[in-house]
Amino acid sequence: MGDRFVSDRIVNFAPGPAALPEPVLREAQEALWDLNGSGIGVLEHSHRSRVIDDLFARTEADCRTLAGIPDEYRILFLQGGASTQFAMLPANLLPEGATADYLHTGSWSKKAMVEARRYGNVHIAASSEPEKFSYIPSRSDAQYSERPTYVHFTSNNTIVGTQFREEPVPPDGSWLACDACSDVFSRPIDIRRYGVLYAGAQKNLGPAGVTLVVIRQDLLERAARDLPTMLRYGIHAEQGSRYNTPPVFGIYVLGRVIRWLLDRGGLEATAAVNQAKARLVYDAIDASGFFRGTAREDSRSLMNVTYRAPSVELEADFVSEAEAQGLSGLKGHRSVGGMRASLYNAFPESGCEALVQFMKDFEARRG
Ligand code: PMP
Repeated sequence: MGDRFVSDRIVNFAPGPAALPEPVLREAQEALWDLNGSGIGVLEHSHRSRVIDDLFARTEADCRTLAGIPDEYRILFLQGGASTQFAMLPANLLPEGATADYLHTGSWSKKAMVEARRYGNVHIAASSEPEKFSYIPSRSDAQYSERPTYVHFTSNNTIVGTQFREEPVPPDGSWLACDACSDVFSRPIDIRRYGVLYAGAQKNLGPAGVTLVVIRQDLLERAARDLPTMLRYGIHAEQGSRYNTPPVFGIYVLGRVIRWLLDRGGLEATAAVNQAKARLVYDAIDASGFFRGTAREDSRSLMNVTYRAPSVELEADFVSEAEAQGLSGLKGHRSVGGMRASLYNAFPESGCEALVQFMKDFEARRG
């Protein structure tokens, strides 16, 4: 095997924080020293300076262009990760006594429901738990409550490697809320179907510490209860995500990643690349008599490819030998075991080719 796959950067299959586009990392290095010729580094600028005003405005405008986000939606850059959104969403928008419907597709939806129950009723409209979350319930599987305030789904399930192919269709008068942490901006999206979409940046968009929230303007006026100021969507919208000191560096990197996606041709082009990358790995799994995918075929995620080898010992060897070959981060989530290759937007196709080659070699030696 030699050192065939070892380069000066390790191939990083980590599930998040995850690989970022190399041109963005290079730019960020320069920006640490001097942001856009301002003579001050990005970490040192006041968040209320002109330079940062421009940076925020450009980042928001680029997000709108990339994902076709119209004016009646607000784009917020918040802190606290998606885990804070699990609570902020129902705290702001689920009135006491009202019901929100959740599609239960893994441990992230479970955590989201735990928070929602603090504020209102939660109805599980569909659940793949009896089948170990190995599939995404179909549109016709969902049994919605009478008049849910919203319908929440996790568009990509990072741990089990499943992904919605199409959005659920909420009942009339209800709107969609989406935890899009692990597939945000990985394919075209019709944001008009959504009331709220949120995503921690650390998989597809940038570093940990900034959370993207896209929220329909009219929902901002519906504060369901009195909340601490920092937990109110309305205040962050009113103050342009600068009620307090925002995570400027994270927003800067997010902005560069969005630019990089635009320069590559936008979400259509990105989706085509993501499909090609995932196909390489799934084809290798399907062609092998040794590896076995864990998600049902119609529910497979393009972002997190989860699979197993015939024994946990072989899996442990696979992961450690891959690591020694410069293929890092392939260990599955501790709650499910096996292997997981995370292939977010910035993950290079060459990394998938290297993985497939390693899988073939491993199977030939150990199968
Ligand atoms: N939802 C999903 C689908 C995730 O993958 C994660 C993180 N892995 C989270 C929520 C939690 O995000 P955070 O760590 O930003 O709170």
